[in-house]
Amino acid sequence: MDDRIILIYILWNFYIVDVFEGTLVRTRCDKSYIGSCLLIYQGRLSMSIKCMKCNRDAIIYQKYSGMHLCRKHFIEDVERKVKLTIRQNFRIGKNETLVVALSGGKDSSVVLHILHKIFHQRRDLEIIAISIDEGICGYREHNIEHAKALAQELGVRHIIRSFRDEYGTTMDELAAKDRVYGTCSYCGVLRKSLLNKIAMELDGTKLVTGHNLDDEAQTILMNHLGGDVERMIRLAPPRALEGLVLRAKPLRNIPEKEVALYALLNNMLVEFERCPYSHEALRGEVRKMLNKFEVGHPGTKYSLIRGFDKMVGVLAKDYPQVTLSKCRVCGEACTGDLCQACNLLGRG
Ligand SMILES: [Zn+2]
Ligand SMILES: [Zn+2]
Repeated sequence: MDDRIILIYILWNFYIVDVFEGTLVRTRCDKSYIGSCLLIYQGRLSMSIKCMKCNRDAIIYQKYSGMHLCRKHFIEDVERKVKLTIRQNFRIGKNETLVVALSGGKDSSVVLHILHKIFHQRRDLEIIAISIDEGICGYREHNIEHAKALAQELGVRHIIRSFRDEYGTTMDELAAKDRVYGTCSYCGVLRKSLLNKIAMELDGTKLVTGHNLDDEAQTILMNHLGGDVERMIRLAPPRALEGLVLRAKPLRNIPEKEVALYALLNNMLVEFERCPYSHEALRGEVRKMLNKFEVGHPGTKYSLIRGFDKMVGVLAKDYPQVTLSKCRVCGEACTGDLCQACNLLGRG
């Protein structure tokens, strides 16, 4: 087997996520097929490549670092990067409350798992998970069940809130209506606003999300392509602002396929199902382009976010962070007098 074809992730929920060419592709298939793939995959690897840090069989080849890693050293590598990201981007002090946005998907599940692993012995820290039920029939229920199970397993306090209760509507209803913007805009804005509101209620000091390296690199490139510098600056590791809980993305240095592998290796039950409304066209194109580029030029995604991090400091001088006021309808922090959520819902 070609070195370049790294491996096939076989998933418990009858999906194969294959990372050929760095792209996550999901195919539904039956158990026997998964079994044979697993054997082929284990066989090939054990025959060929050893971990560079010990003599065990490698389970992954990180093309960008040139390292073959075994299970133990791969897990260590992911956790080391997460710790480094926390130290560099959002140091966690004493008596903090970390509010983790837990959708039940692989990214947010992994971020909760790792934060719990790193911090569960700290008596002065509290970790609280929150899940938002957007009201997407047939999709959200599974994720929320996974979220519940994970929070319970880790002994983490878990709060579930819904668009129905907060906004009197659901994504299914919004999607069926005549709309000015795409469904993802509504969902994204409303979820973000609600997450912040709940984090504020909980006196959260950080609002943690599961954005991974691929998400970040895609967003940066999309903003470059759109010439949207102000939006880009909002992506920077944030500063404290009144009315907004500081955002933290501990997985921003972990490639998506490594997040998936980490979830798999830790036997985490997560949903790989994609939202039925997700068809952000530009992001899809950018994802494909970046993945293709990453194959030919390993490390491209890292370069994009490194370059961005350097640029932000310089740019911030020309684009000072805005001061926030309160939305006249709901009282949430916003830049104008009406917040984006109220604007989209046609309130006020
Ligand atoms: Zn090793
Ligand atoms: Zn509002």
